[in-house]
Parts: sequence; structure tokens; C-alpha cells
Amino acid sequence: MLSAAQVAENFAQVREDIEEIGGREAVDRIRIVAVTKTHPFEAALIAADVGCHGLGENYAQETIAKYAVGHPLPLHFIGHLQTNKVRQLVPMVDVWETVDRIELGLEISKRCPGATVMLQVNVSGEASKSGCKAAEAEVLLAGCRDAGLNVIGLMTMAPLAGGDGAARRSFSGLRRLADSLGLSECSMGMSSDYRIAVAEGATVLRLGSVLFGART
Ligand SMILES: *Cc1c(COP(=O)(O)O)cnc(C)c1O
Repeated sequence: MLSAAQVAENFAQVREDIEEIGGREAVDRIRIVAVTKTHPFEAALIAADVGCHGLGENYAQETIAKYAVGHPLPLHFIGHLQTNKVRQLVPMVDVWETVDRIELGLEISKRCPGATVMLQVNVSGEASKSGCKAAEAEVLLAGCRDAGLNVIGLMTMAPLAGGDGAARRSFSGLRRLADSLGLSECSMGMSSDYRIAVAEGATVLRLGSVLFGART
């Protein structure tokens, strides 16, 4: 992992990019979730120090072990989630970004009534990506709301194949779907494609390697 000074420099560069692409409006709109997976707890402290808005973690076991002592920023769970891991994660997780099926939404609402969630959508339909189909999002949204969850928006990952064009289609598709459902938040954009996500209306970027360096 890079030094605190290097992370601060990288964070400043990302902020500059955001302003260059989307102006002041984008800087005000976008929150940066620092993806700290595989990095030690110290990375979370650095992220808070440099001005990131949240932490992103993928793996249930790692999250539970790392943040038993608490966490310095709101924690977004961004990995594929099994229902049997939800109970142990409740003390740590502030935003559940990967609700992709009603069973998971119901388990979260049972263990953490009124929890704040996002619905993960597989906009591209690429087989390797998790998330519900775009056409299923409305029914999933209604089910989660019926269960009392606070659904704030949608989350997606760009397809692996197809390059920038495919990422752009996937992000603009998520933005349109969120707007049509009356949801304000779109979590989209990682280190390799955040510039596209900024241009397409992201409100949350999930950034790991561009801040902390390559994961080993
Ligand atoms: C790992 C991960 C990220 C961050 O990836 P980088 O390429 O390091 O920025 C973002 N979102 C999800 C869902 C991830 O699994």
C-alpha cells in the first residue's frame, strides 16, 4: 500500500479530474468511497484523513475482522453477499450496495430494520456480473420498500469486455434506470472507468487502486 502522502496526492488528482469533467456541480454531487479491501485498517484511517466520504469492502470475513474496533467513515458493503453473512455484518455496514435479490433484502431488513441499501443491477447483462436484470429492478425496489428498507439508489459494475464504450453504455443505462425509478444515487465507476462514470452522472465512485496502489 502507498504512503499516506501518496494517497493524499492521488485523492487530490481524482478530485481535479472530477472537476475537469463535470465542474463544480460534479464535485458537489459525487462522494468517493475508498475501497480498502485487502489493505490493513490503517488504510481506512488514511482515507478518512485525506477526505474520502466512505469505505468500501467486498469480503464479509475481512470486514468483520477489520472493523470490530469501529470504522472512521460510513462503510459501504460492495461485494457479493450471502444471506448467512448479514447478521454478523450489521454492526459494521452503513450502506448495503449489493442487494440483487429479494431474499437478501428481506434478510437485511430482518436483521437491521430500515437499513440503507442500493440495488445492484447488471445493466450490460454480461453473464459474469452479478446484479438483478434491469427489467427486475422495479419489482425488487417495491419488495425492498415493502420490507421497510431505505432504498437510496442503484449500483453497477461495467462489463469486463467492450472497453470504454461498453462502460459508458452501462453507466448511462444505470443513470436512466435510476431516474425512471425516482432514485437519486448511482454508485458506478472504479479506478479504470471513473472518468466515464463522472460524465454519466455517478453520485458515488468506488475507488481502490487509483488511491492506494495495486492490491497484492
Ligand atoms: C474492488 C472493487 C472496486 C475498486 O476497484 P479498483 O479497480 O481498485 O478501483 C470497486 N467496486 C467493486 C465492486 C470492487 O469489487
